[in-house]
Amino acid sequence: MNATTYVAAALLMPPLSMAAVPAHFSDRAKELLAEEVQIVPTEHPLNVVYFLGNDNEPSADFERRISELMLYVQQYYAKEMSRLGYPGRTFGLQLLENGNVKLHVVRGKYPATDYAYGTGHGKCLEDIAEYAKANPGAICSGHTLVIMPTFQNDEYNDLNPGGVPFYGLGRNCFALDYTHFDLSHIGQNTHEGRLLTKWLGGLAHELGHGLNLPHNEGPVSEKAALGTPLMGAGNYTFGMRPTYLTQNSARLLDCCQVFAPAGDKTEFYAECPAPVVQAASFKWEGDSLKLSVTCTNCEYVNVLVQDPPYNVNQDYDAVAFCLEAEVPGTYTVTIPVAELADRKNTGKAEQGIDILLVQKNGNRYRWRTTFDWSTLKPGDVIPLTKPETMWQGY
Ligand code: ZN
Repeated sequence: MNATTYVAAALLMPPLSMAAVPAHFSDRAKELLAEEVQIVPTEHPLNVVYFLGNDNEPSADFERRISELMLYVQQYYAKEMSRLGYPGRTFGLQLLENGNVKLHVVRGKYPATDYAYGTGHGKCLEDIAEYAKANPGAICSGHTLVIMPTFQNDEYNDLNPGGVPFYGLGRNCFALDYTHFDLSHIGQNTHEGRLLTKWLGGLAHELGHGLNLPHNEGPVSEKAALGTPLMGAGNYTFGMRPTYLTQNSARLLDCCQVFAPAGDKTEFYAECPAPVVQAASFKWEGDSLKLSVTCTNCEYVNVLVQDPPYNVNQDYDAVAFCLEAEVPGTYTVTIPVAELADRKNTGKAEQGIDILLVQKNGNRYRWRTTFDWSTLKPGDVIPLTKPETMWQGY
């Protein structure tokens, strides 16, 4: 069989689990999940925790609703990864016999109000650690999504959910639940539909953080073609308008523990020799910047170009590009300045460049450098100082 026939045959293969969409799922969920792509089975599934205080209860019908939503988000990542050259790769989920996603229902030691936005995550993670200790083997990976039902008080309720943690924190991330958090509302221009985009888009985005993804923006032409990056402002468009993952994100997910295919015995995040950068430079060439990095101990080299300030949550404008190995060990990318047209600092001189070195076991190093547009001349090759300030993680 030649390669063309093989691809044609592979495309005709029905998704394995298409027949397995559970009968108790809503009709809309059955319809949406029937569009699924074939998923590569994984070695270490994502842990999904449904977390309660000692005095509240889950939102109605949470097991069906959250299962449908999680399978939908799993499919979204699989479709995007397939488009980006990683067919069927997505995060794993533990499934129950009835087809629902396994939700670890963990009841905390304190009242629900003790687990509030901004402060409650510490106690919550302690309670989950105790659950893991009491239930050996239940927690299957180092990545956990925690979902808490909305507060019910003067400010928050099922039509205006909130109050609970909603952010990424290392390999943990937090999202919320409310009674209208139901896949049947997806894409609808109703209050429930708009809420779903906000909170499911939010879940998919925070989950991205929990899966090692930093914020990023897309180059101008890519956004025109594909919409809004999930790790940019995609949490406001998800389900309503085209929302995509960047190639930059896909590379990080390829090296994420919960995306590892079944049988992959990589020791994720274990200590190993750090990447070594031998040389780095960039050149002003025509209407483009050509970035070149020579380094070892690296699977991928990504770059984010952004305006100051650079802190987390001020980095939604960091435009993502990927370096390719021209020759083994030397990675380059040409960045047309027109792709950075959304830069807001055109009147200012400084531009930040973050080089992200990604290792196969998921370890990530970031090296931040800056340059001054006003000192740049066509043809100039600017050597970049070797990274003394490289740091691990985001
Ligand atoms: Zn974010």
